[in-house]
Amino acid sequence: MRTPPGRTSVSPVTVPTILLNDGREIPQLGFGVFQIDPAETADAVRKALDLGYRHIDTAQMYGNEAEVLDGLKASGVAREDVWITSKLNNGAHEPDAARAAIDSSVAKLGGPIDLYLIHWPLPTLYGGDFVSTWKVLEEARADGKLLSIGVSNFQVPHLQRLAAETTVVPAVNQIEVHPYFGNEAVRTYCGEHQIGVEAWSPIAQGKVLDDPTITDVAQRVGKSPAQVVLRWHIERGDIVFPKSVTPSRMEENFALFDFELTGEDLAMITALDQGDEGRIGGHPDTMDYVPS
Ligand code: NDP
Repeated sequence: MRTPPGRTSVSPVTVPTILLNDGREIPQLGFGVFQIDPAETADAVRKALDLGYRHIDTAQMYGNEAEVLDGLKASGVAREDVWITSKLNNGAHEPDAARAAIDSSVAKLGGPIDLYLIHWPLPTLYGGDFVSTWKVLEEARADGKLLSIGVSNFQVPHLQRLAAETTVVPAVNQIEVHPYFGNEAVRTYCGEHQIGVEAWSPIAQGKVLDDPTITDVAQRVGKSPAQVVLRWHIERGDIVFPKSVTPSRMEENFALFDFELTGEDLAMITALDQGDEGRIGGHPDTMDYVPS
């Protein structure tokens, strides 16, 4: 088949899937749209789908859910062939607000959503009552509006509280993870409780790409630093969705399945962990941002 003018054609790549605890399979590699201007989002999503990405990670707070659907429609790829994740606005934890917010996301994304997350636990707001919010996600899943449900930025005590007070175990926990912040205690808890780990800011928004350990491995295996870091995540079993509005980087970030890292390479990259010092985003124990 000929590629339409202006569209990129690449050979098909099979992205592995991760089996979630609810029996559904998520593509391990996707495309994140945080900080993509809504005006640029449809074009970026269409390009990502042209390149073969079949998993898009958005959120109400990114302000670009409708534009994700526009990009999907422009691509000609069938809706059922793409996994879309979105997340509840921090301003909508109160149950009726959460119900309205979920309905809004469903409308903007054109129907049932593959995966929906509580974006932050917000332990200092709403009396820290993310449990009531979680029960609304459970209800929306039972109603068929959400197909899988999960959380984001949950620490071990938040996950333990959900386990004690609710029935559905989150399918995933989307947390900050990259070579400078391994987030190992939360990853370990998730691994022990069949909660999939989604690693946000997987290349630390570029901050790890000049690290000599990473550039040395990249030179030896003949790949870019970003590819090495993303491959490290893939081999650790985490789900990733790097963001880029640069077509060559979008293509580079998708080309992760024709090489492997050695156990020694993986260990050297894991050893770059700086603990909490390595975080680039907010701390879930204190984060209380609500959009105005
Ligand atoms: P990433 O780690 O994906 O880094 C994105 C940055 O790196 C951009 O500046 C991009 O530039 C640049 N970049 C991308 N690819 C390359 C490359 N191959 N070489 C060099 N530079 C590159 O950070 P994000 O914070 O965007 O995280 C990814 C996704 O994770 C988000 O889009 C979002 O979906 C999710 N996320 C979730 C959070 C949560 O609280 N749940 C918080 C933060 C992120 P450019 O675009 O100019 O090419």
